[in-house]
Amino acid sequence: MGDQELLDLPMSQGKFEQIWGDLGFGELIKELPRTNSDAWLTAALPDGHFPDGLDLDLPENTDAAVPAPDVAPVVDSLPPPATVVPSTTDYPGEYDFQLRFNQSSTTKSATSTYSQMLNKLYCQLAKTCPVDILVGREPPKGAILRATAIYKKSEHVSEVVIRCPHHQSIAENNEGVSHRSHLIRVEGSQRVQYHEDPNTKRHSVTLPYESPQLGSVVTTILLNFMCNSSCMGGMNRRPILTILTMETFEGQVLGRRCFEVRVCACPGRDRKTEEVNLKKITGETVTGTKRKITPEDQISDQLAGPESTDEIYILHIRGKERFEMLRTINASLELMHMMPVADQEKYRQKRNTLKLDQASLQPKSGKKRLKDSD
Ligand SMILES: [Zn+2]
Repeated sequence: MGDQELLDLPMSQGKFEQIWGDLGFGELIKELPRTNSDAWLTAALPDGHFPDGLDLDLPENTDAAVPAPDVAPVVDSLPPPATVVPSTTDYPGEYDFQLRFNQSSTTKSATSTYSQMLNKLYCQLAKTCPVDILVGREPPKGAILRATAIYKKSEHVSEVVIRCPHHQSIAENNEGVSHRSHLIRVEGSQRVQYHEDPNTKRHSVTLPYESPQLGSVVTTILLNFMCNSSCMGGMNRRPILTILTMETFEGQVLGRRCFEVRVCACPGRDRKTEEVNLKKITGETVTGTKRKITPEDQISDQLAGPESTDEIYILHIRGKERFEMLRTINASLELMHMMPVADQEKYRQKRNTLKLDQASLQPKSGKKRLKDSD
């Protein structure tokens, strides 16, 4: 084949680039923080409709059937964004990333309400939940927000949170939607992308971070939760947490906030009930009178159940300082739990030698403060 023949071929490289550009794929690649089949499909079919006459025989309940794009991903060298178990630790980071919820009412008609006391959002299926994003200073250009759901309890945390088969397959709320299996959706932005991590298979939804509009200090995003917490074959009454992260365009986490979510028919009623239950445990009644429950009572209540070191208990701490203190203690206990006994002994010996060298440590004051926080 001569040079002239090559140039005459209908699909020379030059022509390909032109077609590529005409189709807008160049822009598309620039827009995508990460490649995955869902995001590609959403971006390629912005209105969510397949062209007429295109008969794709896709099973309805799985995203895996969405054909992978033939185009080589340009951001392939990036590490996967999600760890096996995503962190749920609040991390304001250097941009002081924070969330605010409209606490609204606990009336019957409330479609979404937030409990500060429980750090828990209660909402109805598919109803709009506004979440305000606050930053202390402007994040780098191209920063994104990502919402991920995980199961709260350790025994379920390895399982990916997805919608139940029923809600994935019905027509309601799924008109022209390619990300049917995703629990969390974001409303009101054309630049929302739905992701499935190639390694962990966890779902997330991202949108570009936008600075607050003139005269406002917050940016509001609108979340939808597309299943009830009670959905069989889905969450199946297992509590979930939503993790909201602010990330750089490349996927580096700049800040993280986490809150519990319950999707139910009566958000207001359920919030009220759970807050009352919490107050009973902490010794306060709704009218404000104190009902004395000693810490010993609570501890013996907890110990009465079957003993399990993996059971997760929630402690409600009054005051940030105490909380930080107890969190440090808990982190140390976790570390100690993971460390073989022989290593613990070695470490203790090493500490003792160090203590003799520098007598600056004062365990007594630490002990006293601990007692105060009982
Ligand atoms: Zn469902």
